[in-house]
Amino acid sequence: MNKDYKILRKTGRLANGNEGGAGTIFHAVKKNGIALCGTTHGRLGSWSFEEGEQVTCSRCLKKLEKIGGEVCEK
Ligand SMILES: [Zn+2]
Repeated sequence: MNKDYKILRKTGRLANGNEGGAGTIFHAVKKNGIALCGTTHGRLGSWSFEEGEQVTCSRCLKKLEKIGGEVCEK
C-alpha cells in the first residue's frame, strides 16, 4: 500500500493536563504536519511518534474515502 500520510494522534500536552477525547483520535497526517481534516498539532501539543493502526477521525476517513487512500501533496 502506497500511503503518503501517517496515522498519528495528538500527544497530550494540554494546559489542563487532560488529554480528553482529542488525544485518542488517530488522524491521517500528511508530511507537512496537517491532517486531512485540517487539524494541526497546535501550539502546545504535537503528533505522536508512533503510528496507529487505524485512522479513527471521521473527517479524515471521509477524505480518505474520496481520494481512494492516496494523498495528493498540494
Ligand atoms: Zn482528522
